[in-house]
Amino acid sequence: MTELPDGRLYLAGDWVAGQGDEITSYFPHDGSVNRVLCGASAAQVDQAIARAKAAQADPAWRGMKPHERARILYRIADGIEGNIARISEIQSRDTGKTLRETAALAASAAGTFRYMGAALETLDDTMTVPRADTLTLSVHEPLGVIGAITPWNSPIASDAQKLAPALAAGNAVILKPASWSPLTALELARIVDQAGLPKGLLSVLPGSGREVGNRLVEHPDIAKISFTGGTETGRRIARQAADKLMPVSLELGGKSPTIVFEDSDIALAVAGVLFGIFSSSGQSCIAGSRLFVQRSIYDAFVARLVAATKALVVGHPFDAATQVAPLIHPDHRDAVAGHVAQALADGAALLCGGAAPEGEGFAQGNYYLPTILAGLPNTATLCREEVFGPVLAVLPFDDEADVIAQGNDNAYGLACGIWTRDFPRAYRVARAITTGTVWINTYKQFSISTPFGGEKDAGVGREKGREGIRQYMAQKSLYVDLTGRPHPWARL
Ligand code: NAD
Repeated sequence: MTELPDGRLYLAGDWVAGQGDEITSYFPHDGSVNRVLCGASAAQVDQAIARAKAAQADPAWRGMKPHERARILYRIADGIEGNIARISEIQSRDTGKTLRETAALAASAAGTFRYMGAALETLDDTMTVPRADTLTLSVHEPLGVIGAITPWNSPIASDAQKLAPALAAGNAVILKPASWSPLTALELARIVDQAGLPKGLLSVLPGSGREVGNRLVEHPDIAKISFTGGTETGRRIARQAADKLMPVSLELGGKSPTIVFEDSDIALAVAGVLFGIFSSSGQSCIAGSRLFVQRSIYDAFVARLVAATKALVVGHPFDAATQVAPLIHPDHRDAVAGHVAQALADGAALLCGGAAPEGEGFAQGNYYLPTILAGLPNTATLCREEVFGPVLAVLPFDDEADVIAQGNDNAYGLACGIWTRDFPRAYRVARAITTGTVWINTYKQFSISTPFGGEKDAGVGREKGREGIRQYMAQKSLYVDLTGRPHPWARL
């Protein structure tokens, strides 16, 4: 078995014991303890920020040429790629996700560092059009010290999505991972350290949102918070940021509609809907958790979907056959079960799932069966609130106008899936849904070169893409006199 990180924190390049609240990482399969550690204290956060500020201001980093800085990012990418099996196992122990999925997340994190290095090397500042005899330039500067706060569901991918562009932009970063999955980010710190990032530029400080997260948000020397997590936490951070007039980027929750038209390729649609909601056991911000099926095919499609759902393999995260692994924590499993109980009390029909699987192998873990509920309107709590688990609400719709109205009648706007053979229709619906990402005849596909983010309660701002680096920079305008003559106003 892979040796887990020893639980010390990475504070400005040093490995230290945490002085904050105790945190326990459990293996979601059986509740066994991976590691007990202490998170950072507020004083340790302050210390990390002070050292980050000094390291960021050092000309060795601030003045480093983009291609040289990119080389460090490439080495981090190499370090992740060289350790995929190890990172994957640590992440699966931390989160309960399948090894197949955590290996893919690690590979994508390597790709993120490599892409941001390449983007940095090729990102030009611009010479703008002058209106006088001046050279006019639009250039970009690093912001300073970035606070990155991430959730537990895809730790290495969401950590990389913040670290890579923020470091590429010439900043320092304090990363606070979620308390249910602290080990993955500490492993990433080890790799970054070995890649030769100058000391002080990165700290990885697990700890509670109340103590560590809150301190990062409030600290005067944090120039920006990049947050991924729940909408209520994001809203609270945005309120605090307003007092500091500090920029924030917020990647928040979702209740994404998936839409199956009567002319769709049914096998393609069933596979896409299943993957969209039940992969990662539904613990995904972009989970397609509201399924709209056109009324003419509703009964047949739902019957086929339910049969395919019952055939999904629920099992151990390390088993290659597993499609649906345990949820991260018993509290989270109870919360998911609570949503299902509420839906049933509201009159939903249970088509499958709705309970933990039976059997010895599941008894100690946080397992929950893939669940499909029908019969509730789009206004029901189940269709409004994010469950963040393997729970799908299915609803019929009549026509394009009806499904656009129902799809948009929701507080979130993160993602959407559309299945149809009629491309003009897919295009019309895709443009009409208020959301950050639309997949047509597919779902949960990603490219680091394509921006990602949410509308409405799903967030503010975009990550990824070449512009992802710019989110961590301040634009600056330069005017350079080309005349060599004193300004005429002075009449010298
Ligand atoms: P959460 O909001 O509870 O926690 C997220 C992070 O914020 C954690 O590190 C937590 O410790 C920290 N935090 C909590 N309170 C804080 C405070 N007062 N100040 C500062 N930091 C604080 O979310 P979670 O349960 O860890 O993650 C699940 C949520 O994340 C879901 O809503 C999911 O949709 C969302 N998510 C969004 C995306 C996206 O890209 N849009 C990706 C993954 C997850």
